[in-house]
Amino acid sequence: MRNHNMQAVDILKQYGQFITPELTNRFVKHATVVKLLEQLPTNFRQTKVGESHQKRSLQLIQWGRGPIDIFLWSQMHGDEATGTMAIFDLFNFLQCPAFQDISQELEKSCTLHFLPMVNPDGAEMFTRRSAQKIDINRDYLQTATPEARLLKSIREQIKPAFGFNLHDQSTLWSVKKTGNPATLSFLAPPYNEALDINVTRKNAMLVIGDIFEQLNPLLPQQIGLFDDEYEHRAFGDNFQAAGMSTILIEAGGLHLDEEKQEIRKYYFLSILSGLMSIAKNNYHHKNPDVYHTIPANNKEIFHLLVHNLVFEGTTLSIGLCYEEEPVQNGEAVCQSYIIQDIGDLRHLGAYRVLEGEGLQITGEIDIYKPANFQLSRDGEIIMSFKNGISQSKL
Ligand SMILES: [Zn+2]
Repeated sequence: MRNHNMQAVDILKQYGQFITPELTNRFVKHATVVKLLEQLPTNFRQTKVGESHQKRSLQLIQWGRGPIDIFLWSQMHGDEATGTMAIFDLFNFLQCPAFQDISQELEKSCTLHFLPMVNPDGAEMFTRRSAQKIDINRDYLQTATPEARLLKSIREQIKPAFGFNLHDQSTLWSVKKTGNPATLSFLAPPYNEALDINVTRKNAMLVIGDIFEQLNPLLPQQIGLFDDEYEHRAFGDNFQAAGMSTILIEAGGLHLDEEKQEIRKYYFLSILSGLMSIAKNNYHHKNPDVYHTIPANNKEIFHLLVHNLVFEGTTLSIGLCYEEEPVQNGEAVCQSYIIQDIGDLRHLGAYRVLEGEGLQITGEIDIYKPANFQLSRDGEIIMSFKNGISQSKL
């Protein structure tokens, strides 16, 4: 993507040409993945490389003939499907005649190795953890899960130069000082406690800098840098230590996009930008400081903010966040609201804002408690919560 901004915008406009129509929400299941993989043409070379704890198949898909090996894996956390959606959109994109110049460039420079949906058992239940209740991304050292053993052994066999570690993060991460959701976050995970930078990590930082420059105009002030504390049990940190330049991408929140159907597009563009940066060696010529200009993530956003409520004679704001629990066999979630803050919250962000002036409150307003109140105007209910559950359409 040489004139990358122009081209990224262009590709975004044509997303309908290569979107995977079977994937329409976050509740992607293994059966759908299997079906989509069966439809791929033979230049996507497929190998069954293992099974999950509950015996769901894990497929490695290899594409391209170039000398640079790149490993991409998604959904180690079962309830983080955006990376999987983006990978399938990428499979379609690579077959799309309209984008042949890009796919040919990638094909001759790189060999891509994909392991989509590393945790299909978690995806089935829509839980972060595996069927063994283990967080696979904290299982690098012990490898108590078959999924972690497999992921680790694939990297050891292929020894790719680059890796893309594809996750979703809480929608409650925001970009520092903006009150905006961190729609995308990036990190070149550290390989030691001291957060040192060697050539491996530096190359990951340079690629991220390139991705950031291309995506930032499309998502101004909505891209953050993920917390870079060293986690000695995590895959990204250990893969970086093993010499694979590892790029972490996190999908966060975006207004009115709970099912991540818009975010998946930017997520796809991030992966594509990163791949092209590597294929064309663009990252080598980048300024290493760009990475450090990406603003940090922080938590200055709520799912719902109500301003100017008069409660017991005082005017204040209340900030609410929901927690999600899977329901209907992992096909949906139930959102349960908690009052997370009370006071002067006027400088903070929110996915939904309600002006509370003149509203009557009935019920409880209590910190860290499930929302259990009603707001009304002249007897008409504006908003209502019972034990955390919204009783009205928000
Ligand atoms: Zn994750």
